[in-house]
Amino acid sequence: MIGYACPACARRFPVELDRWRCDCGAPLDLAFEPKGVSPAELARRPRSLARYREVLPLPEGVEPVDLGAGLVPVVEEAIGDIPVRLVLEYVSPTGSFKDRGAALVAALAAFLGAGEIVEDSSGNAGIALAAHSARAGLRARIYAPEDAAPAKLRLASEFGAEIVLVKGGREAAARAAASHATTRRAFYASHAWSPFFLHGTKSFAYGLAETVGWSLPGAVILPAGYGTLALGAHLGFAELVRLGLARRHPALVLVQPLRCAPLWRAFERGEAIAAPVPEAPTAADGARVPRPIRSAQLLSAVRETGGLVAAIEEEEIASALRALWRKGYAVEPTAALGAALVRREGASLRARYGSLAVVLTGSGLKG
Ligand SMILES: [Zn+2]
Repeated sequence: MIGYACPACARRFPVELDRWRCDCGAPLDLAFEPKGVSPAELARRPRSLARYREVLPLPEGVEPVDLGAGLVPVVEEAIGDIPVRLVLEYVSPTGSFKDRGAALVAALAAFLGAGEIVEDSSGNAGIALAAHSARAGLRARIYAPEDAAPAKLRLASEFGAEIVLVKGGREAAARAAASHATTRRAFYASHAWSPFFLHGTKSFAYGLAETVGWSLPGAVILPAGYGTLALGAHLGFAELVRLGLARRHPALVLVQPLRCAPLWRAFERGEAIAAPVPEAPTAADGARVPRPIRSAQLLSAVRETGGLVAAIEEEEIASALRALWRKGYAVEPTAALGAALVRREGASLRARYGSLAVVLTGSGLKG
């Protein structure tokens, strides 16, 4: 039976509509042990997320909501003279890896009998959840900071979501969403809080392993705001090793915009938890998260895997984005963070880790 488990105080809870964090305030994990799955069997399956059904923590008989999330292309590229594999997560049904998590939480919300799904987002998570809610026949309500990108909110609204603009930035939007969900018995499907979301994004690790022939790169370089892709990747890579499907867990290299880099600051200082930073505007709006609530898990995942956290200046984001566009990659600024790091430190990353995979997280076709 799948249940919630608190990593901070070890309490356990059943999976219920109005439970989204522990009574002690910590974000919850899942008590869930995946069944094994074989590469030969996977190769015969359809490309959707349901191909990983044995390792997805959904109740018996419940399938992920299917808009086509699952496998994405991986292409060989060079950044400067550094060979990399680019993982094109932006080639997802709604243009970001958030589809992986949304497919799971929307399925769970429908199973739990929610009439409405609530989320706070400045963009991609809201779009992914709005689309998957529409597909599942659920109402969606997205709380967004009032300076969120209008084109992204418009798209979420075209999927039928109700958009609520909140003064006071990203944090205020999160508080408003949580308080609405608590009082209305809606399902708070927060990509930051829900461990189901992370078990959806973990399919990134399975997809990458399958696509590159089960021989994983030395490091995976990816943007981090709340770190939902990084934590999902960590869950997935650890499972792959445990299930005997991969030999090594790649080092996790997280990249943040210098203007909002709480994880980088804590990593540099050797701290176990990231203290909040002031909320400053950055072109990498998808990574503008001043208080990543799972920072302890993120920092320990980085350290356990021999990875690192880096911070990137606005000018470096802009020039890395331009360089990606000039090669035909239709990404948004947040997705250029990893490429910007390779442009700056590619030689030392390659010397330290060997092969590098750089994740292009979000599409630039939404603005
Ligand atoms: Zn607790």
